[in-house]
Amino acid sequence: MSLRYVSTRGTAPVLDFRGVVLAGLAADGGLYVPESWPALTPAEFVALRGARYQEVALRVLTPFVGDTLERATLARLIEEAYSTFTHPAVAPLRQIAADEWLLELFHGPTLAFKDIALQLLGRLMDHFLAQARTRLVIVGATSGDTGSAAIAACRDRAAIEIFILHPKGRVSDVQRRQMTTVAAANVHNLAVDGTFDDCQALVKRLFADRAFAQRYNLGAVNSINWARIVAQAVYYVTAALALGAPERSITFAVPTGNFGNVYAGYCAHRIGLPIQRLVVATNRNDILARVFATGEYRPAGVVPTSSPSMDIQVASNFERLLFEFHDRDGARVAASMNSLAQSGSFVLDSARRARAEAIFAAAATDEEATLATIRAVADTAGIVVDPHTAVGIAAGRRVKGTGAGPLVHLATAHPAKFPDAVRRALGRVPEPPPAIAALAGQPERYDTIANDIGALTEYVRTHV
Ligand SMILES: *Cc1c(COP(=O)(O)O)cnc(C)c1O
Repeated sequence: MSLRYVSTRGTAPVLDFRGVVLAGLAADGGLYVPESWPALTPAEFVALRGARYQEVALRVLTPFVGDTLERATLARLIEEAYSTFTHPAVAPLRQIAADEWLLELFHGPTLAFKDIALQLLGRLMDHFLAQARTRLVIVGATSGDTGSAAIAACRDRAAIEIFILHPKGRVSDVQRRQMTTVAAANVHNLAVDGTFDDCQALVKRLFADRAFAQRYNLGAVNSINWARIVAQAVYYVTAALALGAPERSITFAVPTGNFGNVYAGYCAHRIGLPIQRLVVATNRNDILARVFATGEYRPAGVVPTSSPSMDIQVASNFERLLFEFHDRDGARVAASMNSLAQSGSFVLDSARRARAEAIFAAAATDEEATLATIRAVADTAGIVVDPHTAVGIAAGRRVKGTGAGPLVHLATAHPAKFPDAVRRALGRVPEPPPAIAALAGQPERYDTIANDIGALTEYVRTHV
């Protein structure tokens, strides 16, 4: 028997794990979630104490995967995914103050936490595609981090061809090199003469061409894929176990953009991990802080900040939480989403907000406070954190106050990925790790195309 997945809007076909890995978005526009939550008992958590990260991943993923993969196959894919990490613990904890820790999620190939989910997702997709004797053409737009993590995850996978569009001259040097120095025949980098929004609009138009999308079997690797969520739930478990769970209950501070990472924490909570509080940390793009404070979900214009991977005003994964708070009634979720599309907002009533407050707390941090936090952590702990992580630390410290129990800050990127912000905070840049230093002087491969759907269509057609 396999766990089944339903859409948050209630009308798309019910799928198994294999189906949701390959489907991405549900046919009714919703997101897939498990039909029921598998749970671990306290004794089962205790039994995982001291286990390797990969073993905990196998235990957490197994009920979600069901019988769509042999146990040995799942174990092998997990081993391969995390063998690309440079730290043996995969996601190590580092103490920064009394009862405060950093959970370092940036030891993967592109030095940001997206590697943890994408290294596994790329392998899962490739496996299921090979089984079905089909191929997938992934097309995506990136403003920086996601593209490099997706390329690192899909490079050299036999059943996948990947095209990533970036705005020419508008991504950082390190971000561009992380994408364009990958020498793999199935990786195609496109520099578009335009902005990130232009890139995204081109990708949307390509997917909207149904005939083209079906003929080439177009797919996406964005953060709405369920496998990404469950892969991220694992490090909440390893961190909590190391700090005394299940006897102790932990608070996690999570820098948030698309609500994917913090929803993974909610997933860990639903499978039985005792979590005191999930702190939803935003930068000035504070839609999530506002929805928890006022109940109104209303996207505003995006402002650029020093934590660009969180410069987002559409928190897609929030829909998954909405589904829970509406007692899994897809029609109610669909009504909220219609309201959002038509009048630009929807409202969470006070009963549902009260349920949210039992586990979540939210706080926004401005630029000045973000830089001040980088300075404070460097001064007191001698550790340099990246601006995304700093947004999380600022919120975690503010929300938690003097409450009891450990506070874990999710460190989502290596500081060397964001040298400008670090220089502004500390007056010096962080030492680049070997993965970044090695990029210099390597040949880059990319083609430049016009901001034109005809040019993109033609490019994909001739390169598949
Ligand atoms: C993507 C990203 C985030 C935001 O994660 P979500 O899952 O979208 O909330 C935070 N920090 C970094 C460094 C990222 O790349």
